[in-house]
Amino acid sequence: MNKKSLFSMLPSVDEVLGASKIIDISKEYPRSLILESIREAIDLKRKEIVRLKEEEVNKFNLNNEEIVESALNRLRINYSLSLKKVINATGTVVHTNLGRSLLSETFKDDLWEAASRYSNLEYNLEKGERGSRYDHLTNTIKRLTKAEDVLVVNNNAAAVLLVLSTLAKDKEAIVSRGELVEVGGSFRIPSIMELSGAKLVEVGATNKTHLKDYEYAINEDTSVLMKVHTSNYRILGFTESVEIDKLSEIGKKYNIPVIEDLGSGVFIDLSKYGLSYEPTVLDSINKGADIVTFSGDKMLGGPQAGIIVGKKEYIDKMKKNQLTRALRVDKLTICALEATLRMYLDEERAIKEIPTLRMLTYKIEELEEKAKKLLNMIDQLKLDAEVCIEDGLSQVGGGSMPLETIKTKVISIMPKIMNVSALEKKLRLGEANIIARVYDNKYVLDVRTIFDDEYEIIVNELDKAFK
Ligand SMILES: *Cc1c(COP(=O)(O)O)cnc(C)c1O
Repeated sequence: MNKKSLFSMLPSVDEVLGASKIIDISKEYPRSLILESIREAIDLKRKEIVRLKEEEVNKFNLNNEEIVESALNRLRINYSLSLKKVINATGTVVHTNLGRSLLSETFKDDLWEAASRYSNLEYNLEKGERGSRYDHLTNTIKRLTKAEDVLVVNNNAAAVLLVLSTLAKDKEAIVSRGELVEVGGSFRIPSIMELSGAKLVEVGATNKTHLKDYEYAINEDTSVLMKVHTSNYRILGFTESVEIDKLSEIGKKYNIPVIEDLGSGVFIDLSKYGLSYEPTVLDSINKGADIVTFSGDKMLGGPQAGIIVGKKEYIDKMKKNQLTRALRVDKLTICALEATLRMYLDEERAIKEIPTLRMLTYKIEELEEKAKKLLNMIDQLKLDAEVCIEDGLSQVGGGSMPLETIKTKVISIMPKIMNVSALEKKLRLGEANIIARVYDNKYVLDVRTIFDDEYEIIVNELDKAFK
């Protein structure tokens, strides 16, 4: 036996296609994908033969059954969706890499109906004529923020771009040096300003900006005064910035619109629930901001969106900007956003039923109870590891409040028979795709972001990983 004769013994694509196991599934998958997967499986075997050492050639067992199994395996991988559920055991609630905010189950039927049936998306039922997709959000936003009007675009980066492009293109936009930050990953305030065509006028110093700095910079080319809420970065110590109420006074004095990029859209004062205070949208409007922008999927807990609220005269101009068409949101976003916003009309309900808020406001006793339940289930596996409950810190996360940590309870697992990073890898690549943290040589599961119905899955996966 030599390699050449091994190659000639490889089955043809047609032979594998004729295997009974392949025939059984042939109706479930597209034919092109079946053929591709069979070719891949045969090719993998061919590469295995290429790599054989001379003395291994005789012992090599060329098994068609194995190629059929490998083709079926390839087929399942090739056909599965790339975007799939993972278990977030990191404790970071607004986790940008893991999908940011989760939508509330309470409106899942509405969402499916909006997706699968015709709707009045851009149709005014009363008048029997064309309507605006943005009107669906106006009433709820008005109730929540007292703002005159609202416009929603793809995300907050798009919102800032649209606002500046409409109000400040080819004119000057004044912003504090201390607020020219990079937020939410790759969104840079100075770059987005440049992209909008606005001329950026920086005032103040990195650590201190005074009201008079803004006032001195105003001239006949000034179009907006902008404030950016830099929630993901703080200069500590000798600092000063101008609050939105003072900036708004200047804006009124010179008749220049004041815009505030709040970043994370908060509607409830979360300091009542033990988190640090974040300015709410209502605060900004009350304090005189003409336009406020924020994300739909940070602390707000809704779908990805950029929400612009404020004076009708400015929002009307934005609606006429061609960019609005390019940045527009689809009906699923509008449905999910309206349903999420409506929940805020009852604060207690919002805290309970919007997953982001629920997870951020767990009491430590609730977390302890969750941890005990999960620990109990893990203990029954009798893993070759030290397993216990420990105090930990969760993060609010994302571009929301990365500096903010909240006390939590974690399950810490110190394996005795394998290295902790090998355990992490097994669970991450396993069927349930569990994403957890590793520190101090321990595998750490933060119960804050784990759903109750995921406990059993985690236990099963741990069982498999230790075998
Ligand atoms: C997160 C953030 C953005 C970007 O929002 P996206 O919705 O991620 O586009 C812009 N500005 C501020 C202040 C932010 O915190």
